[in-house]
Amino acid sequence: MDSFLDHAWMTPDHRAHADAVRRFLAEEYQPNRARWTEAGVVDRAFWRKAGEQGILGASIPEDHGGLGLPRTFDLVTFLEQGRIGDSGWGISVHNIVLHYVASIATPDQQARWLPRLVSGEWIGAIAMTEPGTGSDLQAVRTTALKNGNEYVLSGSKTFITNGQNADFILVVAKTDPAAGGRGISLIALETDGAEGFRRGRKLDKMGMRRQDTSELFFDDVRVPRSNLVGDAEGRGFAQLMTQLPWERLILAYLALGASRCALRHTLAHVRQRKAFGQRLMDMQNTRFKLAEVATEIEVLAAFADKLTAEFQAGTLTPERAAMAKMWSTEMQGRTVDTCLQLHGGYGYMNEYPIAELYADARVQRIYGGANEIMREIVARSLDRD
Ligand SMILES: Cc1cc2nc3c(=O)[nH]c(=O)nc-3n(C[C@H](O)[C@H](O)[C@H](O)COP(=O)(O)OP(=O)(O)OC[C@H]3O[C@@H](n4cnc5c(N)ncnc54)[C@H](O)[C@@H]3O)c2cc1C
Repeated sequence: MDSFLDHAWMTPDHRAHADAVRRFLAEEYQPNRARWTEAGVVDRAFWRKAGEQGILGASIPEDHGGLGLPRTFDLVTFLEQGRIGDSGWGISVHNIVLHYVASIATPDQQARWLPRLVSGEWIGAIAMTEPGTGSDLQAVRTTALKNGNEYVLSGSKTFITNGQNADFILVVAKTDPAAGGRGISLIALETDGAEGFRRGRKLDKMGMRRQDTSELFFDDVRVPRSNLVGDAEGRGFAQLMTQLPWERLILAYLALGASRCALRHTLAHVRQRKAFGQRLMDMQNTRFKLAEVATEIEVLAAFADKLTAEFQAGTLTPERAAMAKMWSTEMQGRTVDTCLQLHGGYGYMNEYPIAELYADARVQRIYGGANEIMREIVARSLDRD
């Protein structure tokens, strides 16, 4: 059985979706990959094509242009992205934005925004992190202050995935700066024609070279009051919490896909490369290291399946999602490191996929909540009666 398709929750329909996504990526992504790496961004036209294929909105209701399928179909897409060793296409962030809108926006807002995000006409981003604060979200300084029928958005964000291309940005801002965490709201910025909105640098990263991670600036940007996400101010923190388990489950699947990809490339290398008259694969160290890698991948797959079942049942808790995010990304780090070592000097060369997998893996322990924050969340749950 193809390990990418070997999940307890997968049905023949999931496998058919996987086939379609795999074909789409082979035809539309892979031929452009080197060019997009060079450019530091994936073409907008590709997003449109993914929208036309139903990939972006697979789990969004049909009346908003989606396919109305369970979210496990999105997990299939993330696994297929992992199969090709890619983390440059910011579809996971786009997906999270879609699910924020689908779960916390008003029906009117959903009707306005979802079809464009599902079709790929709009690319989504979520802007929480600022130069002065990341982990401590309560300390954000961007404000959205009421002025007549508008909010005036002021401040700046950094490290924002899809930042250069985003047409729709969920901005975490304080609508009541004196109220601490209870003064935080989500403001939807439609970037087209937004005066005072500026994109800063496309940041120069050690990995994820095709992803347009960016700085964003808001200099008194006027946003209609109807773009306050949901129907009341001050709910931003609680709204963000609603999708955190999903976001962290996605990160675990991305770690799984990338780890499987690393193992596959490494096996191909050590089976053909010879040293001291034998294949690298015939050396006990290689065999034992790869046996450990393969075992850890299986352990993660089993844990991910269990949490997926919990997610589907609506019982996935923040602490279990935090466990998955923490462990999976650390396992991914161990895996790519071991796999790179077994490639020898070739592993350090960018033309070998393991080099990209190694560089891309590092940030998984930092974003989506740094792993130290994950440990806090897990530990807090252990200290409750
Ligand atoms: C490639 C990339 C893409 C990103 N995409 C997005 C995006 O789309 N949207 C967005 O809003 N942000 C995004 N981020 C930002 C990311 O979420 C933050 O970098 C992350 O939350 C950490 O925040 P920070 O960088 O400010 O680090 P800090 O908050 O300064 O933390 C630095 C380190 O201090 C330690 N630390 C912090 N708090 C604690 C604590 N309570 N206990 C113990 N240790 C602690 C941890 O080791 C942590 O890594 C992205 C970042 C990168 C690199």
